[in-house]
Amino acid sequence: MLKRYLLAPGPTPVPSEILLSMAMPIIHHRSPDFIPVIDSAKKGLQWLYQTKNDVLILCSTGTGGMVGAVNNFFNSGEKVLVINGGKFGERWTKICQAYGLKVEEILVEWGYSIKPEAVEAALKKDPDIKGVFVQATETSTGVAHNVEGLAKVIKKYENTLFIVDAISALVAHDLRTDEWGIDIMVGGSQKGVMLPPGLAFVSVSEKAWKKNESSKMPRFYFNFKKERENLAKNQTNFTSAVTLIIGLNEAITILQKEGLENVFKRHAKLAYATREAVKAIGLGIYSKESPSNSVTAIEAPQGIDGQLIYKNLREKYGITGAGGQDKAKGKIFRLAHLGYADTFDIITGIAAIEMVLKGLGHPVKLGTGVAKAQELLMK
Ligand SMILES: *Cc1c(COP(=O)(O)O)cnc(C)c1O
Repeated sequence: MLKRYLLAPGPTPVPSEILLSMAMPIIHHRSPDFIPVIDSAKKGLQWLYQTKNDVLILCSTGTGGMVGAVNNFFNSGEKVLVINGGKFGERWTKICQAYGLKVEEILVEWGYSIKPEAVEAALKKDPDIKGVFVQATETSTGVAHNVEGLAKVIKKYENTLFIVDAISALVAHDLRTDEWGIDIMVGGSQKGVMLPPGLAFVSVSEKAWKKNESSKMPRFYFNFKKERENLAKNQTNFTSAVTLIIGLNEAITILQKEGLENVFKRHAKLAYATREAVKAIGLGIYSKESPSNSVTAIEAPQGIDGQLIYKNLREKYGITGAGGQDKAKGKIFRLAHLGYADTFDIITGIAAIEMVLKGLGHPVKLGTGVAKAQELLMK
């Protein structure tokens, strides 16, 4: 038998309480049974998003929310700015281009974070930019971009929306939608929210709803205006993912019991312990600036393929992390500490890394990283 551990940056493990809550018989999404369920989910998401804005609930993966964030607010030919520092930044560009937007990119070296001044300079030079797109956590590089700093800059531009992909950052990072002025923020169920894949969440500010009125792009399934109207009646435009929304309420209950601030503190602590333990083993952290609290990207030692470490973790020890993507493939492997994650997920992950490295002939003293993690996690 090989016991399995899911330490990937999505999907992430789902607590038993949530799994059990989703084992109930299916209820009808247009019946009175569902009204309190979606009403509670709606309020729970506003709590999690720290917003009074609508938070739409879509039956899709996170990328569906990203698509909707593009084609509900812009017109083809309009200029937008994408901060591209990894695979998911690149995805914003591809979606925007698919809908005929004129994309200007700020390329950020992988492993580094955007300087808000760079965005300020771009907006000053071209005030016709209608939207700025970023990842709160660029999952492919393990970098957390400075969302607060960016919001401060973009807020000054009346005709520019600020769109944040927080799919992997939600729950792990303090993202103050209203206080900072994030116009559109996309989340997904299978990362910090501790649910199976299948839901996307999108918050929309009044500024963005205004822009929605003049946006004429083709859309049908992801029609945010219709979703907003339906949500006001505790419905969704099409059949609601009733099971996942029931699970969402259970997830929010668990997070509320812990308290938002403690949730963020837990993630920060787990991420810090992971990085320090990795360094104690003698490995480098791929994120050279602003490492994320959601996922740690770890450099493979010289001469060892990162994919081989990923593969060994999975096949020998049952631990599913993630490898590197694109140009980081082979150079890194990644471990998440996201959602339903605590002390012994870190200890387990670090212990396994040591065992894999030793097995591959890399000089490592077993227990070095584990001891470091233990020490930090006892605090
Ligand atoms: C996982 C992830 C996505 C994609 O989400 P899907 O649910 O696979 O569509 C997008 N952006 C970021 C930053 C992610 O981590």
